[in-house]
Amino acid sequence: AMNVPDKQVESVCPYCGVGCQLTYNVKDNKILYVEGRDGPANHARLCVKGRYGFDYAQHPQRLTKPLIRREGVPKHGDFVMDPDHVMDVFREATWDEALALAAGKLRDIRDTHGKKALAGFGSAKGSNEEAYLFQKLVRTGFGSNNVDHCTRLCHASSVAALLEGIGSGAVSNPVMDVGQAEVAIIIGANPSVNHPVAASWIKNAVKNGTKLIVADPRRSDLARHAHRFLQFKPDTDVAMLNAMMNVIVTEGLVDEGFIADRTTGYEELKRNVEQFTPEAMAPICGIDAETLRYVARLYATSKASIILWGMGVSQHIHGTDNVRCLIALSLMTGQIGRPGTGLHPLRGQNNVQGASDAGLIPMMYPDYGRVDDPANQARFEALWNTKLDSTPGLTVVEIIHAIDRGEIRGMYIMGENPAMSDPDAEHAREALAALDHLVVQDIFLTETAYLADVILPASAFPEKTGTFTNTDRAVQLGRQALDPPGDARQDLWIIQQMARGMGLNWNYGDVSEVFDEMRRAMPSIAGITWERLQREHAVVYPCREEGDAGEPVIFVEDFPTKTGKARFVPADIIPAAEQPDAEYPVILITGRQLEHWHTGSMTRRAGVLDAIEPDPTVLVHPLDLAELGVEPGGLVTLESRRGTVTLYARADAGTPRGAVFVPFCYYEAAINKLTNAALDPFGKIPEFKFCAIRMRAG
Ligand code: SF4
Repeated sequence: AMNVPDKQVESVCPYCGVGCQLTYNVKDNKILYVEGRDGPANHARLCVKGRYGFDYAQHPQRLTKPLIRREGVPKHGDFVMDPDHVMDVFREATWDEALALAAGKLRDIRDTHGKKALAGFGSAKGSNEEAYLFQKLVRTGFGSNNVDHCTRLCHASSVAALLEGIGSGAVSNPVMDVGQAEVAIIIGANPSVNHPVAASWIKNAVKNGTKLIVADPRRSDLARHAHRFLQFKPDTDVAMLNAMMNVIVTEGLVDEGFIADRTTGYEELKRNVEQFTPEAMAPICGIDAETLRYVARLYATSKASIILWGMGVSQHIHGTDNVRCLIALSLMTGQIGRPGTGLHPLRGQNNVQGASDAGLIPMMYPDYGRVDDPANQARFEALWNTKLDSTPGLTVVEIIHAIDRGEIRGMYIMGENPAMSDPDAEHAREALAALDHLVVQDIFLTETAYLADVILPASAFPEKTGTFTNTDRAVQLGRQALDPPGDARQDLWIIQQMARGMGLNWNYGDVSEVFDEMRRAMPSIAGITWERLQREHAVVYPCREEGDAGEPVIFVEDFPTKTGKARFVPADIIPAAEQPDAEYPVILITGRQLEHWHTGSMTRRAGVLDAIEPDPTVLVHPLDLAELGVEPGGLVTLESRRGTVTLYARADAGTPRGAVFVPFCYYEAAINKLTNAALDPFGKIPEFKFCAIRMRAG
């Protein structure tokens, strides 16, 4: 029969950080359909992306041959996918020729302009092993720490605040713990869209009695299930959270024992929140004082309260301050270190946690040892048998600026699409086009690959085996179900060829050999064996010794800081970098939508998902839309100081008046041309959640 699979392969979903386990049903090197498996995060549930977003792997636009840019073809940013046009710009090449050129030119730049003239972007869509080898190639082959990935655009501010406050950037408790919480606060996150299976568990918990507090400038689907919904004004997180802390302090609801035994810096925090009374903050954040009091009391006095957050919190120039407030709330009330409590930054991509753990960040080695700490440097120099640079490298947006200054001249980009995902994308595209040499490794000719000198055709998620770490710190095994098409190769092989071209003598065999080296480099996963992953599919870290069960709930006894104590860090109100004014009166908020994934390179080539959401849309409050004189479905043009896009209007009463929401996945209306590249000083994350625009009909 046509639809009877000839094999079933157990794997995980390639999209979000929930990390649902699934089964690929395969026939003749094609995925027929996908089913949910009984994984710890999903118990057989899947969302629309996991269930229907698989056929991109067989899309006719897959890259199947290495491509080299034709001599003299200028690089410019706006690209239309047309096969004839593509072959005018690029020519096919053998792997030998493409690799010799790709690595050879990077080596020349390194030898002529120095080690800091090169940089690499890895990917949170790749496996842990790919991330590990990629950062090792940059640190040992390029010779600098200029390596980063999209975590910089995602939770970099959360990680900065968490490392500073409690010594670990990962979640304290799994999503499932919402089921054990009496109170759950979800702030700046829209899990029904971005973490749909997690949202389904949250809704189940509400049915079983958990009191859900949703706080967000936009009213999302989850708000309907909330005990209280706090629709605060965009950009006023610190005002609202400090007011809640003010209530907890003045009403004596703090956990004095916890503060005394397990924290430092409380007195300073207490002094800081004195001025943030609910009455003073209500007009700023738009939530009345009584509601602020009620929610603060509820959170502080429940037996177990948990906080989950997303990019609404992190993507601000004060993203680190926002998270400092969330950490302080949990510490002052002792709502951490037990089941049903804690802090959970919902991770976006399926391996953004793992790629960060594996060292795909410029300031830290694998497992978060700072590169400028001589003890860490010595340890990795011994492990990798080479000299290492002790200067922290540049971050994603800083690398674009360094290209402008002529400091960075060559880049290797694996599986990332900064031409779509970077803020002020028009400018990012100009910078990428100005590089002397750009190597892009990907499965499609993305907007970034279009600017490359050499394109290396890589493997799609179901075409390789590797480990992926979800938002709950579960290391899970993704298994190969398909062979890559044509001359496309597995990413691990390509990275190794690039490393050899840069003069490194790398000879890893199987992917498990890379994982074993990671275990030696990273104490947190030292106890996870490949055999155990094959047997159990998922193991939670910390797992330091073989046989350790793994720890879903951490910080039970102490915090992984030097003193073992957590630290309060006070935060003051800092307004967004670009305020609305007479010329640009509207606030632009960007994000994702249910059916599409990030820059859309995969999901927009998945038949079902593309059929459901084929066109770029802007969500506008119905009254604002009426004022504009546009019917739902009509065209709207948005313009900021940096760029212009035109898209279809959708009436959405959940979007506050005076603001609009746009998903960033549509190349034909690339909204990041409009966003502001201003950075949070600690996490170096750009302000995707707030910039000033104007809009007009048509
Ligand atoms: Fe995949 Fe996330 Fe959907 Fe699960 S919730 S199926 S991991 S996209």
